[in-house]
Amino acid sequence: LFAAPVDFLKGVVAMSGMPPADRVEVCFAGRSNVGKSSLINALTNRKNLARASNTPGRTQEINFFTTTGGPYLVDLPGYGFAEAPVPVVKKWQDLLKAYLSGRVNLRRAFVLIDARHGVKKVDDEILSLLDRSAVTFQVVLTKVDKISRAEREAVLEQVKGALAKHPAAHPELIVTSSEKGEGIDVLRTVITTLE
Ligand code: GDP
Repeated sequence: LFAAPVDFLKGVVAMSGMPPADRVEVCFAGRSNVGKSSLINALTNRKNLARASNTPGRTQEINFFTTTGGPYLVDLPGYGFAEAPVPVVKKWQDLLKAYLSGRVNLRRAFVLIDARHGVKKVDDEILSLLDRSAVTFQVVLTKVDKISRAEREAVLEQVKGALAKHPAAHPELIVTSSEKGEGIDVLRTVITTLE
C-alpha cells in the first residue's frame, strides 16, 4: 500500500467535487497546528506532500491523496482557528458534516490530538459529530517526543476518559511522533488492514 508513492490528487470545496467513492478511504482531522501535515508526510514518506493544505487559501479544502491500488488519504482542514470569520467556519462545518455523513467509502477517521494538550472542547465537538455521523474514529496522539513518560501516561488516561462517552470511538489509541518516527508503522498497518 505505501510501497508506491502517494500523490496529491485534488482539493475539494464541495461534495460535488469529490472523486468517485471507488476505494477505501480514511481521513485525518485535528486542530490547527496539531501536527497533521507532519504526520501525513511521515506516513507517506514524503517531505512536503501535505504542505498544500497548510498554505493560505487552501485551508478550507478537503485534500485527497492517493496511490495506484491504495486507499484515499483525506486531509480535512484543521479546526479551532478562533480568528476565522463566521461564514468561513460555517461553510467548512457544513462541508465537513456533508462529507462525514455522506461519504460511503469512508472507513475510519483518525483524529489527531496533541499529546501535550489532550482532548479539548473543540476536539470533543468533532468527536460528537463523528458519533452522529456513525464514522468510527481512532485517536492519534501527536508530538509524543515532547512529553515525558509520566506525562504520556497521564494524557493517555485523560484521552481514554474522554473517549468513554463516544460510541464511535475505536478503543485503541495510536501514539506517534512524526519527528522521531514513533508509531508511524502502527498507523500504516492499521490503514492497510482496513482495505
Ligand atoms: P498542522 O497544522 O496540523 O498541519 O501541523 P504541522 O504538521 O504543520 O506541525 C505544526 C508544528 O508542530 C510544526 O512546527 C512542526 O514541526 C511541529 N511538529 C509536528 N509534528 C511533530 C512531532 O512529532 N514532534 C515535534 N517535536 N514537533 C512536531
